[in-house]
Amino acid sequence: MDRLTGAQNWSVVSYVNSHVRDPADAINLIPYIFSTNNNIQLYNNISIHSNVIPSATAFHVLTNEGGDIPPSEFAVLNPDKIYSDAVAELVDALQQNIDEGFKKLMEFDQLSVRAYLLQKGFTNAQINWLETIEEGTLTFDKSSLAQAVIDQWIFTAAPLDSWVTVNGGFERLINGLLKVLHKPPKLLSRVTAIKPGRADSLTVVVNHTSEHSYDHVISTIPLGATRVLDTSTLPDLYYNTTMAWRTLAYDDAGKIGIWFKTRWWENPDVLAAPFIGGQSSTDLPIRRCIYPSYGLGVPDAPGTMIASYTWSQDADRLASFYQSAEQEEFITHVVLKDMARLHNVSMSFLQDQLVEAHLWDWYSQPYSVGAYALFSPAQLSDVLPPLMRPSCHGRLHTAGEATSSGHAWVIGALNSAYRAVMEVLAVEGRKDLIEKMIEIWGSIDEVDMGWFESPNP
Ligand SMILES: Cc1cc2nc3c(=O)[nH]c(=O)nc-3n(C[C@H](O)[C@H](O)[C@H](O)COP(=O)(O)OP(=O)(O)OC[C@H]3O[C@@H](n4cnc5c(N)ncnc54)[C@H](O)[C@@H]3O)c2cc1C
Repeated sequence: MDRLTGAQNWSVVSYVNSHVRDPADAINLIPYIFSTNNNIQLYNNISIHSNVIPSATAFHVLTNEGGDIPPSEFAVLNPDKIYSDAVAELVDALQQNIDEGFKKLMEFDQLSVRAYLLQKGFTNAQINWLETIEEGTLTFDKSSLAQAVIDQWIFTAAPLDSWVTVNGGFERLINGLLKVLHKPPKLLSRVTAIKPGRADSLTVVVNHTSEHSYDHVISTIPLGATRVLDTSTLPDLYYNTTMAWRTLAYDDAGKIGIWFKTRWWENPDVLAAPFIGGQSSTDLPIRRCIYPSYGLGVPDAPGTMIASYTWSQDADRLASFYQSAEQEEFITHVVLKDMARLHNVSMSFLQDQLVEAHLWDWYSQPYSVGAYALFSPAQLSDVLPPLMRPSCHGRLHTAGEATSSGHAWVIGALNSAYRAVMEVLAVEGRKDLIEKMIEIWGSIDEVDMGWFESPNP
């Protein structure tokens, strides 16, 4: 994460902060409270605080209680520990050496998380329980083991109490970047086609009408949105590239933000065991509540929080109710009811606290068409490499988070940008600039930089 939040000159936040003219544009990082003792876990209608081990026994899902976990050592252990132990060998290998670790990981790339855990001797009931606590519903079937191991590696790379967040919201990072760019980007311009230009150039068509020619085009458009660009006249667009655009699996994610009149979860008059920040989790439809780490100690700070953060099938299902004002009102009511159960407060109290709700689903948005890449079995081996090499005689480069081993994180987007710039320089034969790039921006932890030697798939 040093590339993003480190103190080095080549770290994005410190670079922006040392280049903005107006200190008000600086990016201010504050501690992110990942969890606190009094956060709540509610599964099978049983509520415990987050300092209690969320075992199958704690939530009464044993076979003699109407559940499917037989009394056993598994039943009393922490699912976090069971799961991290199951993938530890592969995570450690990545930690020690990304290239060697990734090679080892690719030996298992045909497997979903479920298939791997079955091979390790877990039963389906145990795997379902681990998934319930760890992930969105059905993620262990959709995600490759390799994808899950990379996730686990990123999550455990730094202690949870060292995480940071951007004060004022992620938009502050974009704002800072815009202030330090020499040439500001053209906003609100939908690319609708890429076609051959004169000589070796490519022409980008915006809104079906205005045309702009470039020697190289780096597309960071998410792949679902890339699919609807007209690229039919590009003669040298590799099949491997378009196949990767079409097939790479994207996860869904949804958030329901609620603005309450007060930060009632911090108030001892409302909750017997109040808390500041962190997250609560549940098997109810809302799945996860996230409380703000910002505005702490600020008198009358707004009571905004993420009432529901969902992934995978949990997100798909809630998103069905975001299609009209009437449905949104209905699902907001359901969310408040879930929150009332989770926090053991009355529905009327939450209704009275409600100012506004905002619902967002990443798969329903035409400019994202999915939340982020979630590589399914074999896709890291088969689909990632063609995405990390240029097409159209080295003129068309695919970048963006999905095209990096650090995908689904900002670091993946940054690494992909670095790789795409290096691609352009390599195609142009600018060894001098490649050296300068490394001198100024260092190198990156990325798995496939092999196109230097061979730009063809
Ligand atoms: C719910 C959620 C939570 C996340 N949480 C974190 C987190 O806590 N930490 C972290 O590090 N990362 C997180 N991420 C991941 C991070 O946000 C992404 O990896 C990163 O923003 C991806 O950057 P990008 O430039 O590749 O893509 P994007 O930020 O998606 O940018 C793509 C751009 O392309 C534009 N576009 C689309 N179609 C067209 C078109 N036809 N013409 C022109 N432009 C187009 C879009 O409008 C958009 O601006 C999260 C992502 C999601 C969805």
